[in-house]
Parts: sequence; structure tokens; C-alpha cells
Amino acid sequence: MEYKEAKDMQVVVLMGGLGTRLKEYTKECPKPLVKVCGKPFFDYSLRLLIHHGFKKFLFLIGYRADMIEDYYGDGSSLGISISYCYDGKELLGTGGAVRRAYDYLEDDFLLMYGDSFMDIDYEETLYRYYEGKSRGMQALMTVLKNGNRFDKSNVIMDGSSIRLYDKMNMTPEMDYIDYGVCIYEKKLFDDFEVGVKFDIAILQNRLSIDKKMTAHIVTKRFYEIGSPAALNEFTEYVKHRFLEAHPAVFLDRDGVLNEIVYNEDAEQMDSPQKISEFKPFPRVADAVKKIKDKGYYVFIATNQPGAAKGKSKLKTLYDINTLFAEELAEEEAYIDGIYMCPHYPKMCENTKEEFLIKTCDCRKPKPGLLLKPKDIYNIDYKNSYMVGDSFTDVLAGYAAGVKTIYIGDLKCDACKKLCDMEPTHIVRDIMQAAEVVL
Ligand SMILES: [Mg+2]
Repeated sequence: MEYKEAKDMQVVVLMGGLGTRLKEYTKECPKPLVKVCGKPFFDYSLRLLIHHGFKKFLFLIGYRADMIEDYYGDGSSLGISISYCYDGKELLGTGGAVRRAYDYLEDDFLLMYGDSFMDIDYEETLYRYYEGKSRGMQALMTVLKNGNRFDKSNVIMDGSSIRLYDKMNMTPEMDYIDYGVCIYEKKLFDDFEVGVKFDIAILQNRLSIDKKMTAHIVTKRFYEIGSPAALNEFTEYVKHRFLEAHPAVFLDRDGVLNEIVYNEDAEQMDSPQKISEFKPFPRVADAVKKIKDKGYYVFIATNQPGAAKGKSKLKTLYDINTLFAEELAEEEAYIDGIYMCPHYPKMCENTKEEFLIKTCDCRKPKPGLLLKPKDIYNIDYKNSYMVGDSFTDVLAGYAAGVKTIYIGDLKCDACKKLCDMEPTHIVRDIMQAAEVVL
């Protein structure tokens, strides 16, 4: 499977809009530069993108283009490269702006909006795009189960595939919305004429009908600054996330949130490798909600080497997490992030996705999964917790400098491996762990 990492993927950002609904702020300044808590709005998005490893950017600019170019320059001070393409005098719509930039585009590129804050697992987005490509897909759309929460829904899903995207003819059957991050093959734009205005939704609709667009289902809401109310909402969010420190609870997954299953091939208890094997414990949503209500972030930190060992496919492991996060979101238990280590240090007999074989920094007992959100959240680690049912969880918690809650009976072999590092608390299940945190 062809696969590009974030550092090699071009990010194209639509920044040309006039920001008419925000005109008291955009009279002097383009939307991406509107100040939020003293910093330009797009700085917050760029921080996320750099965190995920992106290095090559193309900004499509129009309204007050000079200000954006003056502010971000060539990106070298941020360790990235930024090129610019001007929309020209006439507004060409999202599709027209991309078509105009054709000569600057790489063969595959990620497209997003300069007025949206989209906090997703971009590694998963890239993997899903290339996995789709290996099945003949030419594009990827991120989608969110919406139920008309943020805007009108415009996507019908079929499991994890898109059946139809149509923003011109919306039907009650539609319950997902396009989230705002897409990846395209450049050649999809060959058929459009340069300098002709068009909405990229036309291309997306055609791709969905032709079954050429794969999906990345995301489960966390986006923020945008299209109106003064939305700008206020994002300002509050920035204060909470970046300016104030909050503790976090890192939850191991298998054995803590869901059942461990019997694997017949291996003749032992194992993590679920298929969606049908995934069975959450009762009252997990309750526990998550209680912890979140106390002001903690809730992250899942889980080792999932099943795909690296060839027992499953990375796509299935991601699908399991998505399904779980969607089920929790149904009950208004919103997980802040799922950090999964899919790696394994050595090749196994059945390994197919070889790029997963590596000695990484994220596989517990290393603390990588817990430290990952450090630069995109303001986390008070000293008052945070790691909750797990294995000695590796306790060791990872120690290494990250958080308190640890061990679920289950501390058996002798685990004690030995822990040396003298006793968990801070020992409890029976996730509900008891939540009580400890509270
Ligand atoms: Mg576990």
C-alpha cells in the first residue's frame, strides 16, 4: 500500500473569503487573522497541524492577501514551508480557487478551511485515504454524526462508507455532515476549466455517487468563526483549552472500558480484533461524563498491536475506536482524544501492514501516548491520572508523572514487574476509578 506520512503531505488552506458575516472584525483584516485571545485565529489551527507533523503548506489567499503573507512569511520561523497562490480579483468559489492553484498542487493534497478549527487524528485521516486508494478511491471526506446539531446534515453513511453526499438536495435520511477536511487526487481537477467559478461540493457529490470517495468518521465537534456568535464560542474554548491548565484522566481501553475476548487462534484472552468482538462495559459513559463534569480531560491511551501482528487490519482497529467514540457521544460522553499505539517492535509471521513495525515512543510502558497531547492542550500532569488493568499502564503513568489507578487484583507477576512502583490506588472497575478521581 502506498502511504505518505504527514510531513510529505501537502496541506492546502482556503483563505480567500471575504468574511462578510464577521464584517466588524474583517474590515481591516482577513478572517484567518482575526484575533482570538490575542493571537490570529489560524495560529491555533496551525499549531494542531504542526503537532500532527505537517510541514508543507499552500495558502490560497484573496481578500487582504498581503496581510496573510506578511504575517506567516515562508513559514521557516515555524519550521515549515508555506507557499501562496492568489485567487485573483474574481471570487471563484472553493473549487475554482483550487483549480486556479493547479500548478502548485501535489499529486495528492489535503484541503481545509482557514476559518475552521478541526481537531482530529490526522494520522488516521492519511491512513484512511491511502487505504481507500488501494481500493480504487480518489478522495477522502471527513464526516461527523451531526443530527443537525451544527448545520444541516448532508451525508448518508453506509457503515464506514459514504453512500451519498449532497448539499443541494438534503433529505431526512442524512445524519452526517461534511466536516471540512478532505484529501483529493490532483487529477480530479483536470476536467474543470481554469478561471470558472464552482463549488467543490459539485465534485464531492459526483465522487460520492461514483463510489470514489472514502470517509474518515470523526467524533469531535469543530469550531469556526463564520459569525460573531461562533467567534465568541471559540474564544471561550481557547481560554479553557490553551490558557487555563486542567488535569486529565488517561484511560486504558481493553479490560477497563470494554471486555477482553477469547481469541481461538491464539488460545488466550486478547483485545478485540473485530467490531463484533467489541463489548463496552456497562456505565462507561456515566463514568466518563462524571469525570468530564469535574473539569478533567478524558483521553483513551491504548496499545493495539493487532494489525502489526497481522491479526487484524489497522482500518478495523480505527473502526472499533470510532464506533466506541460515537456510542459514547450518543450518550453525551465526549472523549477528548483517542491515542492508540498501533506499532509492534518486530515482524510477525502474518504481518501485512509493515509500516506498523517499529520501535516507537508510544507503546506502553513508554509514556508517549500520555505525553502526546502535551503541546496542544494545557494539561496539569501532576493532578492527572492513568487508569489501567496492566502493569504497563502503571509504568507508563509513572513515566508520564501522573497518579495511577490499577483496576483488578494486583497479581504477583505484575507486582514483580512493577518493582517498588505501587499504583496510587487499586480499584475494582471504571466506576470505582471515577469515584477515586472525584
Ligand atoms: Mg488493558
